[in-house]
Amino acid sequence: MASFWYDSWMQGEAPFLVAPDIFQMARRKNKTVHAALRDNSWVRDVQGRVTTGLLPQFVNLWTKVAAAGHLSTGPDVFTWKLTESGVFSTRSAYHMQFLGSTRSPLMAAVWKAWAPAKIKFFAWLLAINRLLTADRLMARQWPNCYFCPLCMRSLETNVHLFQECPWARRLWATGADRFQLPSCHPDNWSITTDTTEWLLGLTTNAAHAKKGEVHLPAHSLDDLGERNNRIFRGQERSVERARDSVGDEITTWTWAGGKHLMPRE
Ligand SMILES: [Zn+2]
Repeated sequence: MASFWYDSWMQGEAPFLVAPDIFQMARRKNKTVHAALRDNSWVRDVQGRVTTGLLPQFVNLWTKVAAAGHLSTGPDVFTWKLTESGVFSTRSAYHMQFLGSTRSPLMAAVWKAWAPAKIKFFAWLLAINRLLTADRLMARQWPNCYFCPLCMRSLETNVHLFQECPWARRLWATGADRFQLPSCHPDNWSITTDTTEWLLGLTTNAAHAKKGEVHLPAHSLDDLGERNNRIFRGQERSVERARDSVGDEITTWTWAGGKHLMPRE
């Protein structure tokens, strides 16, 4: 027999979810629906005072219990709610795992891009602001360089290092010109603290999307690579040399099978 408090017998809802605080106050929680509805005995099972704060829950539950109407006289039957027929299927059980899930906007721009896994992983960390830039190291009280090593002017943050920094902007600009990717040119995007939005904006130009998807993390990685060179190896490159190394990297990828990535010059 169905349980009054636990089973979803009120138009698909269960009393313990509709009125959790009233449920806490109820004794005999395993009472059947049939027994609990007889003379509304479930009301007497609620022990303690229903305070003004709890009144809305109580009234809501009362209304739903009343609206559930009369019980059929036949025996209880199990119904699988995820199929129209009410019969269980493994297919519907499999799809149940994805109920309430949302599609990540990074799926196409990052995970589906034709690029090595390490680049995708890097682009993902960049998009969700999880790279260990100076601001994040500072927040953890870890040693950090504080200033952006590319321009030595500002605190190194994700937004600064990839969008604001004059050095990085020059790299983007020269790369965008050389590889004909206008959506990657700093003149065509605005600086935003929403790194995911910025990253997606760079790949919205359909004609260049495929290439942009890969050039984007490659450029960013080189930006970060230059930053690491300066911090850990004391070496510096010009913007042009950094851009050429992006080109070399992309060319290597084309040899590995990504023919559509071939830089156009
Ligand atoms: Zn900088």
